[in-house]
Amino acid sequence: MSKGPVLVTVGPDRRRFACLVCRGNLFYDREIKLNTTGAELFDFAWANASADGLVCQECGYVHTFVRDCVELWKAGGGYPDAG
Ligand SMILES: [Zn+2]
Repeated sequence: MSKGPVLVTVGPDRRRFACLVCRGNLFYDREIKLNTTGAELFDFAWANASADGLVCQECGYVHTFVRDCVELWKAGGGYPDAG
């Protein structure tokens, strides 16, 4: 199974997300398991289960979201229209 890169929006306003390093806007998504013990040490109980990891297609930088606030869009379809 091969999954192509996707466009990403964040939050209810669907703000377009770009790589913090290279400003690329295509990502591969992967689930990241967080270290539960470490999370508890820092009182991040809400971050226990897993996180959404977005790997930049261009530079490989991994962006991690611990809240369910990202939406993924097929690169071919483009971003959703606002409203
Ligand atoms: Zn990048």
